[in-house]
Amino acid sequence: MAKCLFCEIAEKTKQAKIIHETNDVIAFHDLNPQAPVHILIVPKKHISKLTAIEKEDTKLLGKLQYAAMEIAKELNLSDFRLVMNNGKKAGQTVDHLHYHLLSGRRLLWPPG
Ligand code: 5GP
Ligand code: ZN
Repeated sequence: MAKCLFCEIAEKTKQAKIIHETNDVIAFHDLNPQAPVHILIVPKKHISKLTAIEKEDTKLLGKLQYAAMEIAKELNLSDFRLVMNNGKKAGQTVDHLHYHLLSGRRLLWPPG
């Protein structure tokens, strides 16, 4: 069975444009950007989606948001959107929990 795409990126067996990394978190540019800035922020631990987290993962979720803040500061982004799709009908296509950090253009609300 093929390995999870984002696990492979976290393990560096698959190439990605990594922009930020800590012991628990990796962030890289999206292959198919939907905005001038489109970064994926991913826990190195494999968790399929938000509804699959355990109570012990709550600190890790905070670390993902902290990484988003650090990246936003590094890139000087004042306005951005941090979004997570949970499940196919919400647009999730990769079954490894991740935030999208989007910026660099006017973002519409509500999203489609
Ligand atoms: P989702 O649709 O699951 O919320 O987000 C998955 C994101 O992963 C999509 O925006 C898609 O463009 C991106 N993506 C899919 N495959 C790859 C890949 O191999 N490398 C990178 N960097 N991004 C990918
Ligand atoms: Zn994974």
